[in-house]
This record gives sequence, structure tokens and C-alpha cells, in this order.
Amino acid sequence: MRRQQLVPKTARAVFAAVPVLALALIVYVLVVGGERFETRLIVVEPGDSLSEIGKRFGVTAEAIAALNGIEDPSRIYPNQVLLVPTAPDARVPKTLAERAAALTRVPSGVRRRPWRWIVVHHSAGASGAAHSIDEFHTNVRRWRNGLGYHFVIGNGSATPAGLIEGGRRWAGQLRGAPSVSDEENQMNKTGIGICLVGNFENTHPTEAQMRALAVLVRTLQRRYNIPTRRVIGHRDVLPGHTLCPGENFSIERFRQML
Ligand SMILES: [Zn+2]
Repeated sequence: MRRQQLVPKTARAVFAAVPVLALALIVYVLVVGGERFETRLIVVEPGDSLSEIGKRFGVTAEAIAALNGIEDPSRIYPNQVLLVPTAPDARVPKTLAERAAALTRVPSGVRRRPWRWIVVHHSAGASGAAHSIDEFHTNVRRWRNGLGYHFVIGNGSATPAGLIEGGRRWAGQLRGAPSVSDEENQMNKTGIGICLVGNFENTHPTEAQMRALAVLVRTLQRRYNIPTRRVIGHRDVLPGHTLCPGENFSIERFRQML
């Protein structure tokens, strides 16, 4: 009789373990799966201020400024992409790797693009940030979605050195900038564009930029299963068409950091 009771007992034990295992899986996905940060990506609208955005989400302007490397909270720009804590006590990213993980998440409700390539650019100007390149691409290039890149990495001229900024093409999962070349147009449909501020024809990327680039690219590679051979420089898309990302940026050397 005792022997017969063993089976149902075992079965009960198995059933009892199911919710525990399910909970463990949820905790694993939340903590280990890179979803541990309670932040969201928002795109600044014309007329927005940091304090208004803060009120909207129940957090302070200072908290948003700190999270985004904004030195003067009175200066934000339309189309700027910001990480915003979801609550005053939200777990926010602190390290470079954590920030890259939070920035590369696709906002909920936005359909993720099937990214297959990562393309590195330089801005070809000594100074700048996502907002100034966005202005140039909007007003001079007349590109409908402005900033042609998905991410910009500062060189310390307008944003802290090595600061990664997201662009609205990332927040909205839009293709990269339009081009007159078919090859580039094709590439920009599935290529994630990352621009380092600087002109690497006559200067070198800073160490902080290279460190941030490596962390960002590794994060994107993991998330979208992109092999290192598909991490390329802009000039590799169509050799002879552009010098970007400049003579002093070697994609071969960079790949060794991945
Ligand atoms: Zn380029």
C-alpha cells in the first residue's frame, strides 16, 4: 500500500514544483535577460522640457538629466531620444554596458526591424552630438526622418566623452538614411548605423569612444545575432564611394575588440 502512495506523492511534488520553476524562469528573463532596467525610450517633442517630461512620468528632471548625460537640464532638443526612469525608485542603468542594454531595447509597441549588419560612421566634423547632426540632416540634407544614424557616440565636444545617444530612427525602428547609391540604400534597410563624432581623416577616435563603441556593438550583436564579419565601416558598403569612417578608423582593429 505504501508503495502505491508513492506515485501520487511524486506527482504532487512535480506539480508543486511547476510554479516555482515558472517563477525562476521569469526572474531569469527579467534579471539575466537584459530586461532588468525600469526605463523607457522617449522622443522629445517640440516644446517639451525636461521638467514636463519628468512630471509626465513621475520623476524629476534631474533624474532624467543624470541618466542621459545632460549637463544643462534646460537644454533638450526636439527629436532627442531620452532614457526615462519609469518610477522615482526605478532601477536605472549605471554602467556603460547597462546603459547600452537599456538603449538598445526596442520600445514596446514598436515592431523590431530584422537587423543584419552594423555599419560604423564618423561625423566628419570636429564637434557635435545627435541633436546637431539631426539638425544638419533635417535642414541641409532634407532627410524626412532627420538624423541618419541609429546611435551617436560623443567625443566630449558637446556631450560627455563616450556617451552613447540613441536616435529616433532607433526608437521608431526606421531604416537608416536615404542614399543616392543602391548599395547603401539596400544596406540601410537592415544595417544599424552608429556614428562616432569626429573627423577621423585628421584625428583619431578617443579611447572613451572606442570603449563605448565596442560595448554597444557587442550588445547589438548579441541581441540581433549579428556576426563580427557583418560589423563594417561605411566605406565597405561601396568601396570608393566614401572615406567614412576615416583613414584613422580601422575596422579590422576594431573587430579584434569584439
Ligand atoms: Zn558614413
